[in-house]
Order: sequence, then C-alpha cells, then structure tokens
Amino acid sequence: MPEGDTVWLTAKRLNTALSGRALTRAELRVPALSTTELTGMTVQAVVSRGKHLLTRLDSGLTLRSHLRMDGSWRIVRPGRRWSGGPAYAVRAVLGNPEWQCVGYRVHDLAVVRTDRENDLVGHLGPDLLGPDWDAAEAVRRLLAEPQREVGEALLDQRTLAGIGNMYKAELLFLRGVHPFTPTGSVTDLPGLVDLAQRILHRNKDAPEQTTTGSNRRGENYWVYLRTGQPCRRCGSTVVGADQGAPPYQRPVSWCPNCQPAR
Ligand SMILES: [Zn+2]
Repeated sequence: MPEGDTVWLTAKRLNTALSGRALTRAELRVPALSTTELTGMTVQAVVSRGKHLLTRLDSGLTLRSHLRMDGSWRIVRPGRRWSGGPAYAVRAVLGNPEWQCVGYRVHDLAVVRTDRENDLVGHLGPDLLGPDWDAAEAVRRLLAEPQREVGEALLDQRTLAGIGNMYKAELLFLRGVHPFTPTGSVTDLPGLVDLAQRILHRNKDAPEQTTTGSNRRGENYWVYLRTGQPCRRCGSTVVGADQGAPPYQRPVSWCPNCQPAR
C-alpha cells in the first residue's frame, strides 16, 4: 500500500508534468464520470493531502484520485507505450503535448469544486507532509481514544494522515513500542509523532523508502514483512499478527525483545 511519501512524490511528478499547461487529453474511464469534460482546462497544481491526490484546474474544479492498495500514475511521452498494466486497468488519462499521465487502478475518482475540496479531505487528521502539519493536534487525536491500540490508531487517516502499514511497523520498532499498546499507555507519543514526520520527509523524494539507513533491497526495513526472520538489532525472531477488527484487520510485525508488551 502506498504510504504518504509515495503519494507526495506522485503529486510532485504529476505537478511537474501537468501544471501550467492546458489538458489536451482528459479521460475519466469510470461510469459516473464518463461524460465529465476536462479537456481544455489548465492544470494549476497537483498536490497531495494525506493519501489523496488533488488535481486543481483553472475552471475552479478539482479532480481527486486515490491509490489505495494497488493504484499508480505513470507518466510517459506521447506515442510511447503505456506499461503500467492492461488497458482495462486504466481509469484516467490526463495529457498535454509533452506528457501523458496514465492512472492505473486509481480509485475514488471524483470531480468537485475546488472550494469544496474539504468535502473529500476535510476529515483527515494533520498531514505529515502538509504545509499545515500540526504535531500537537496529531497527538491530541491519537489520545482521543486512549484505549485504542497504537498500531491501529496510526493507520487511521483521521488521526494523522500519511502513515501506511510499512511506516506503522517501522515507527513502532524504532520507538520500541509494542503495536498492541493502548495509545494512552505509549510512553512518548510526541516523540513517536515527531519521528513519523521526520522519516516521511527524509524519504519523500526517494524512489525507494528506507527506515534502516540502508537503501539495499532486503535491508531497508527493520521488521516490516520480516516475520520469522531474525531482528536486525537483537537477533530475536520477528513475530507477526493481524491487528484490527475484521474485515479491516491489517498485518503487523514486531520484535518481542525490542518491543516488549507492557
Ligand atoms: Zn530485536
């Protein structure tokens, strides 16, 4: 699942390709939007808000898309082959004479008035990569339900926006926090939130994320996707479980020695 920094980088690339130019091609290949006409409108900016991508147009409209688990935007020169998947997976095409931006399996496509963007993203907590990041507000929202398990609360985009399953597991490892600890019992929640913001910023321009300092494939995570393997710090076997109520449970892994249950 793309994390907030991946979405941020996608927005930056789309912005570079599209911003300041009129759309000469605009196709939204979903039934609800198949008659929506955006061709001829000039893209003012593409920005991320949490994991949402907002393409703002000079007509006063905004196109929202979301990558969810499997979506991606590919940017290719006109005339070049599209390589992101089968044609039926293409849900959106935005293009100008220089670039074609092809949205594969992008979700939640919606067109709203730009001054009504909050209808789509107003529920989000403070955005870890946003210009209005507010650490104190993120902590306040995490503590609003003190009995909630911290691993679950970190994934809730209403508490803070940008953390996915990978950063959840890695942040908890780095802070020595067991994922099933109630948020109200986490020793230093401001420290956890601060680290989240710093690590997403550190990785936001990088094509490959790392939390270990190593960019080598297979060495870039501490515990994420490493259940059954030895902890990189102490050698104990990393364990894993599902967390959250069905059907929304998500896997989490942790080191029982470095992240003891309280
Ligand atoms: Zn360990």
